[in-house]
Amino acid sequence: MVSVAIDGPAGAGKSTLARRLAAEMGYIYVDTGAMFRTIGLYALRKGVDPKDNAAVNTLLPEIGLRVDCIDGEQHIYLNGEDVSTAIRTEAAGMAASAVGANPAVRAFLLELQRSMAKKQDVLMDGRDIGTVVLPDATVKIFLTASPEARATRRWKEYQAKGIDTPYEEVLADVKQRDYQDTHRAAAPLKQAEDAVLLDTSELDFEQSLDAMKQIIAKKIG
Ligand code: C5P
Repeated sequence: MVSVAIDGPAGAGKSTLARRLAAEMGYIYVDTGAMFRTIGLYALRKGVDPKDNAAVNTLLPEIGLRVDCIDGEQHIYLNGEDVSTAIRTEAAGMAASAVGANPAVRAFLLELQRSMAKKQDVLMDGRDIGTVVLPDATVKIFLTASPEARATRRWKEYQAKGIDTPYEEVLADVKQRDYQDTHRAAAPLKQAEDAVLLDTSELDFEQSLDAMKQIIAKKIG
């Protein structure tokens, strides 16, 4: 099986780029952030503080998670409910970042992530795919951009969806999430030694896509 691991901070464009690449290559796109968001969403719904590891751990046995690919789009089910849209809020993102620091949550999701890469060719995006989940991935890319460039992109996405969040708030969230993701003890966000670094601060979507294709072509032809 061929696997392409794409890691990097929030808002670097991983999911949009990975989705398009997967479609072009005929691979399955696996968005692991959605899995953490789903656990975060469940904690919020249950009134549990996502930062409270012990309380979140008691919820894990209640959580049935399923991932399906429908028309090239990943759908994620929480106890049978399609939560693919519900997890796309800033609150769910922050909750995901909090539960992502919980080792029991990471262990809970690890097997699901690995089993997906065993069955099919995948393009998997996350924070620790190249370092922990798929250390033997065929290609590893670490995708990054400046916090300002990432906040601007995220802010535009919100505007397009009619969500009116001030830019300063989005930037503060990006920085806070970066801090949480890079400073946690469990599988912190970091570039794998054998990953290729791609900084997209000055690149538009098509240029980023081309750069990624070149990196992949060098490894798998
Ligand atoms: O990629 P996305 O922004 O949807 O991820 C939400 C949060 O989930 C991240 O900020 C990160 O803390 C966590 N996450 C993680 N490991 C992954 C994917 C996401 O810890 N593989």
